[in-house]
Amino acid sequence: MSSRLILVVLGKQGAGKGTQCKRLAADFAIPHVSTGDILRAAVKEQNALGQQVKAVLDAGALVSDDLVIALVADRFTQADAAGGAVLDGFPRTLAQAQALDTLLGDGGVSLCINLDVSTVRVVERLSARRVCQECGAIYQVNDISAISESCENCSGDVIQRADDQPEAITRRLDAYERDTAPLVEYYRDKNLLATVDGDQSVDAVNADLLAVISARGLA
Ligand code: AMP
Repeated sequence: MSSRLILVVLGKQGAGKGTQCKRLAADFAIPHVSTGDILRAAVKEQNALGQQVKAVLDAGALVSDDLVIALVADRFTQADAAGGAVLDGFPRTLAQAQALDTLLGDGGVSLCINLDVSTVRVVERLSARRVCQECGAIYQVNDISAISESCENCSGDVIQRADDQPEAITRRLDAYERDTAPLVEYYRDKNLLATVDGDQSVDAVNADLLAVISARGLA
């Protein structure tokens, strides 16, 4: 277990976690595990899990700890996670962080990276964010492709997420401050925290992420 590379990426909604976690997953050939993506896929499929969580996701509230912990535990049983994972959007509460430590056992989390972006900046980014309903590609409204409302990768519909509407944005950022920001201290106390400035170009953030991971002797 301890040879696994388990990266936890914390950051407000809109800090660029999804984009950066995908890059890290490719850099280290480990899966990108996003609880938000898993839950959204269930809503799209309209399966039992999706029907259970749709209203919560649309409102920008958190689903129960037990539910997401079970999803992540299940994800770790899959063969591609044997070498580790980049965790995006999980853990999100202290209870989830403690459950993750129990789940991982010896070795535990390798490093937690806090992707730091100011609240003003993330509100700007979230309000302008559009996503492809088919492949999940992310656009900002000033992209030509978003204006055409058709994805340049797969021609799928480019839409605004229900939880990127102004009221839901406020609710999600409040939930972040209340439930998730304390995790920064949780990982700092374990000497497992690194902070990266997320308000830079995608490439510059990725370079800083690789630098803090390498500085810990993890790559
Ligand atoms: P995200 O894409 O990470 O912002 O997640 C979208 C939504 O999925 C959140 O607003 C929550 O409703 C739900 N969600 C994702 N991850 C978690 C989690 N770890 N705990 C509780 N709810 C979550």
